Amino acid sequence: MEAVKAKKYLGQHFLKDENIAYKIAESLSTDVGNVLEIGPGMGVLTKYILNQKHPNFWVIEIDEESVEYLGKHYPELRNHIFYGDFLKLDLSLLFSSDSFSIIGNFPYNISSQILFKIFENRNQIPEVVGMFQKEVAERVAAKSGSKIYGILSVLLSVYYDIEYLFTVNENVFNPPPKVKSAVIRLKRNNVETLECDEKLFVRVVKAGFNQRRKTLRNALKSLNYNLDSVPDKFLKARAEQLSSDEFIELTKILENSQNNV
Ligand code: SAH
Repeated sequence: MEAVKAKKYLGQHFLKDENIAYKIAESLSTDVGNVLEIGPGMGVLTKYILNQKHPNFWVIEIDEESVEYLGKHYPELRNHIFYGDFLKLDLSLLFSSDSFSIIGNFPYNISSQILFKIFENRNQIPEVVGMFQKEVAERVAAKSGSKIYGILSVLLSVYYDIEYLFTVNENVFNPPPKVKSAVIRLKRNNVETLECDEKLFVRVVKAGFNQRRKTLRNALKSLNYNLDSVPDKFLKARAEQLSSDEFIELTKILENSQNNV
């Protein structure tokens, strides 16, 4: 069967470099249990993951042509190919309530949505190894105080230890993307629940970064909370200056002020 024709609207950039594919697969810990690969395409990573003999390995691919290709070239994968959209996938279908780790050279057009889905399902996802466009990888791995620190850096770093592993050049893909790529690894930490209301925490982080040039005094106005009991160290700061622990502290103060305006 001929190679899959790359479709731009599906973010298809096929990795050509076997060494990089091997390196990505090897970056996933061996004891992570069930594994799901998002967007296997023609299986350049898949074959190395298959070598690792994870107990229950699934791939999810939205492109019918790629699904056919995988079925022909990797017979051992045949009953473990899920044809569909990861963003719409009901995770309990594949793994019920068991945990599973995620790996992939992800479609860059839906990077943030994949990361939000990981955040929402973090109690089922002990580890993630993934290639993203370099800016997204850097943003996720960024620490407070940096200009690129953002919503996903704060939210994910609450529950995951995040490592930037390595940068990947455009020319190892077919077709080459316009930007560089990078591989990151997220390992679930021990945090089970936040010391504050999580929904409010997410709203506070989003409100802060949606107007990231403003001080939090102004950026948080949209939440309609009374800010009288919030110390100046928060109100005079901008979102990018706060660590995730400080965002939690700030959320607790808002929660306890209990006097919505
Ligand atoms: N892992 C392969 C392909 C990377 S390109 C490689 O490294 O060569 C990204 C892949 O994600 C493509 O195969 C594309 O069809 C698939 N994809 C795009 N959107 C998807 C979605 N919503 N759910 C599952 N797979 C998706």
